[in-house]
Amino acid sequence: MNVHSISVIIPCFNEQQVIRETYMRLTRVMQANFSAYELLFVNDGSRDYTLSILKELASQDEHVHIISLSRNFGHQPAVSAGIENCTGDLAIIIDADLQDPPELIPDMVRMYEAEGCNVVYAVRKQRQGETVFKRVTAKWFYRIINYLSEVPLPVDTGDFRLIDRKVIDAFNRLEERNKYIRGLISWVGFKQVPIYYERAERFAGETKYPLSKMLKFARTSLLYFSNKPLRLASSIGIFSVIIALCLTMWVLYTTFFLPDRLVQGWSSTLIVVMFFGGTQMLTVGILGEYLGSIFNEIKKRPEFIVDEKVNTKPLKSNPPA
Ligand code: UDP
Ligand code: MG
Repeated sequence: MNVHSISVIIPCFNEQQVIRETYMRLTRVMQANFSAYELLFVNDGSRDYTLSILKELASQDEHVHIISLSRNFGHQPAVSAGIENCTGDLAIIIDADLQDPPELIPDMVRMYEAEGCNVVYAVRKQRQGETVFKRVTAKWFYRIINYLSEVPLPVDTGDFRLIDRKVIDAFNRLEERNKYIRGLISWVGFKQVPIYYERAERFAGETKYPLSKMLKFARTSLLYFSNKPLRLASSIGIFSVIIALCLTMWVLYTTFFLPDRLVQGWSSTLIVVMFFGGTQMLTVGILGEYLGSIFNEIKKRPEFIVDEKVNTKPLKSNPPA
């Protein structure tokens, strides 16, 4: 199993507590199985000792390559930076906190070879040590995304996956700035195969995905993968107009034929006004979300800015055995 050169992409944000352990577990697995590999750590503007630890590792081990971003851009841009800068025939995207077991990598590569596929995506069998809140939100998140999205997105997958050169090149040609990586990788097509694993607990430290980041993530994945919210807005509009027409008819009818039953309540008026006010705000809001995304895309600001690169040199792939 040493035909391919492999880039392991590891986004890191404030991971000083786990990064050495991650390095050791990855190195053990990679040394035992592959001859040409790089551990491409993307430092996503960490404010702790992550970068100095990485540099220390890089000075001892030439397999350690570092891309350091100029500030915290977020998980998805960090992974994009990795995909853009990796040089292996295959790339593996993995979290720094050891929730994705490095030991699965050889199995993924075997799967890749056996199936002749282009993507091997890891599907969680179980979520250990995650709060009920995280599990429930994740489950609903995928349900809703899948209902709304025009591209089917595999349920219970993170970004832990193997992608080959074809997919890497296709991905790098995508010009959108706000990338929802697992969705886009599914979108590019090719042959994609699942592999099942048990998700472990975070090795140390705490989640770098607070609710605010989760919401931002959900927003991107919705807006960039679906026009259904817009259609929903027009459906709500049509629905409201129909209700309004019915009510008008009822009012006219009572005025002329049942004057003694003429509406007198102000509460119904209030409800109707609030209902239409609400739907209008909602639809304007949905429009605004899309407008905001268009605004962001049109500015064409880069997705991330690289501050420095350490050790990065292209991997040579081995001649076929
Ligand atoms: N991460 C990152 N930038 C961020 C947030 C997270 O590079 O702004 C990295 C983080 O270091 C980890 C991965 O993304 O390697 C997943 O983050 P985390 O484990 O905190 O998320 P969770 O597993 O709780 O969803
Ligand atoms: Mg994690």
